[in-house]
Amino acid sequence: MRDHLKTVLDIFYPLQCGGCGDHGSTLCGDCIGSFRAVDEGSSCPVCGRWIGKNVVCGGCLEENRGFQKGHYGFYFEGRLRSAMHAFKFNGRKDIGRRLVSLSKEKILSFADTFDCIVPVPVTEKRLKERGFNQSFIIAEEIAKIAGREIGHSVLLKKKDTKDQYSLTREERKKNVRGVFAIRDRARIKDKRILLVDDLFTTGYTAREAAVTLLRSHAGEVGFFALARTPS
Ligand SMILES: [Zn+2]
Ligand SMILES: [Zn+2]
Repeated sequence: MRDHLKTVLDIFYPLQCGGCGDHGSTLCGDCIGSFRAVDEGSSCPVCGRWIGKNVVCGGCLEENRGFQKGHYGFYFEGRLRSAMHAFKFNGRKDIGRRLVSLSKEKILSFADTFDCIVPVPVTEKRLKERGFNQSFIIAEEIAKIAGREIGHSVLLKKKDTKDQYSLTREERKKNVRGVFAIRDRARIKDKRILLVDDLFTTGYTAREAAVTLLRSHAGEVGFFALARTPS
């Protein structure tokens, strides 16, 4: 009986909410209501960590993040985490696009700080496996909202990295060293770049990508991640 009902629901409401699995929408109102947006006014302007005010945090004073300024959509927790998982691993691009659109006001607030959007790339191998690069989908939506161009294939990922989750801090740093290369220098020379990724955790991937861009004479590099870890 249950299976039967599920089949009927699948036919009439094929779209399932990425957060809870309910039928009828990309993301339901309950799930959207549960997402916690990162409040820039009370967070570090570089890494987005909550510190109660908008000043550079101790961690960012100690360690160079590579990029000068960071913007973050939501905290990576609860139903947002499920939605991000469905976006990245189940091919639900609609969820990624919807999540970006929920950050529209935030994106518009810093749209005049960049000229060109560069998504953090995945390797050719990963692209074939997954069929798409999640950061590119995010970049496309930001491009629409902000009216800026995307630097297609500016940045290249040369080799696959091990899953960062399984590694220690030091191993994580080493894991990403030298993995990016620039394919089109002229495209970024003296430009203000917005580097875009789906998730900010340790920040090592973003730093490596930002440093690679700056070494190739990007004017400045800002960063946007759809989500960041809560702590
Ligand atoms: Zn839901
Ligand atoms: Zn910080």
